Amino acid sequence: MSTNEFEGKYNLKSPGVKRLMREACELKEITEEYSAHPLEDNLFEWHFTIRGPPDTEFEGGIYHGRIILPSEYPMKPPNIILLTPNGRFETNTKICLSISGHHPETWQPSWSIRTALLALIAFMPTPGSGTAGSLDYTPEERKTLARKSKQWSCSLCGKPTLKDHVETATGHNATVPERKEEVLEECPEEETPAEEYFPNETPRDSPVTLSSGLASSVCIGVLIVAIIAIILRRIFLM
Ligand SMILES: [Zn+2]
Repeated sequence: MSTNEFEGKYNLKSPGVKRLMREACELKEITEEYSAHPLEDNLFEWHFTIRGPPDTEFEGGIYHGRIILPSEYPMKPPNIILLTPNGRFETNTKICLSISGHHPETWQPSWSIRTALLALIAFMPTPGSGTAGSLDYTPEERKTLARKSKQWSCSLCGKPTLKDHVETATGHNATVPERKEEVLEECPEEETPAEEYFPNETPRDSPVTLSSGLASSVCIGVLIVAIIAIILRRIFLM
């Protein structure tokens, strides 16, 4: 698979296409925690693999899924669908994260597919609380699914790939990413200027790197706003 194959197919001047081509280039380097790549014939559908976070019910699990990008990306958020049974998110369903398609209001164009994957990993051990696509399986069921997940394979990409985990890579590492320097050299460096996404607005703050802490606080922020709205409505209706 090469991003060059997309060059004849999409308008390379479109900010969304430019962004996705750059993200595809940057994500060629497979990490221990996540990997993602566009489908060979569709730059707007990606497949990803994430590792279950350590010290959780998902530890040891390898989870695969789809990312559907709206044509307005990065103005609108990606939709995330898990394919591997995991006990936290329904499979084959667009899941609700504060960074995903269910919450366009909290999404920022400076976030990326990498941001979405890091947020997804961070959300795995949080309570489902009945949000769209959430499952509240027991810890034992989730651990069983984590073990089984390693046998799961995708009908499109085959076996999900992640760089070997440090703890399991005994003495050698067979899947060190190849040509790291070359890959990085190929990636266009320039970030699309904020003005290009917001022609009528002043540029926003520098790109936000969504750490797991921030991912939770964004979700909590959404909850707090909802609770305040409910309280205010009650007060005014009394
Ligand atoms: Zn796949």
